[in-house]
Amino acid sequence: MYHPAMEVKEQTVATPGMRILLRATKFDGAAHWVQPFRVLSDDGTLLVTDYRARTPIYTSRGEFRSPYNSRVYFWRDRWYNVFRLSRPGCSLALWYCNVTTPPQLQGGHLSYVDLDLDVAVRPNGCIELLDEDEFEVHQRKYGYPGEVIAQAEEAALQVADLARSNGFPFALG
Ligand SMILES: [Mg+2]
Repeated sequence: MYHPAMEVKEQTVATPGMRILLRATKFDGAAHWVQPFRVLSDDGTLLVTDYRARTPIYTSRGEFRSPYNSRVYFWRDRWYNVFRLSRPGCSLALWYCNVTTPPQLQGGHLSYVDLDLDVAVRPNGCIELLDEDEFEVHQRKYGYPGEVIAQAEEAALQVADLARSNGFPFALG
């Protein structure tokens, strides 16, 4: 299977305080979500970043300012990421997990292909799989290879399992 997002390139290991820009695309390469982050840590596999509420985000549906402070966990070897969202001044969090191709950091740019499926995890332990309909439609629209479909479905199960077992970075009440 070939896809530009899967091509393994030399990756940057970020340093704390570094500013990076996430550029998530859809499978055809069209920009989908562009969000600025500040790096907290990076061990070469797990990249942890912060986003401050109200900082402009560019989305394919226009500019968006999230009301949530976000701590975001990106693993270079996983097909999902985890956004820990909390309102400023409020510790209660909601976790929003995106199924994507494994992210790559080159210079100040983090990139991946968004694969539609999302998993929302609430502090009470409620876990919900979202956007299955969109995933179905996009399988046909973009012609996702079978391997991508399988990896994406597996990733949604894995992150739901991780949340259910309260594994890092989840901390359910
Ligand atoms: Mg989605």
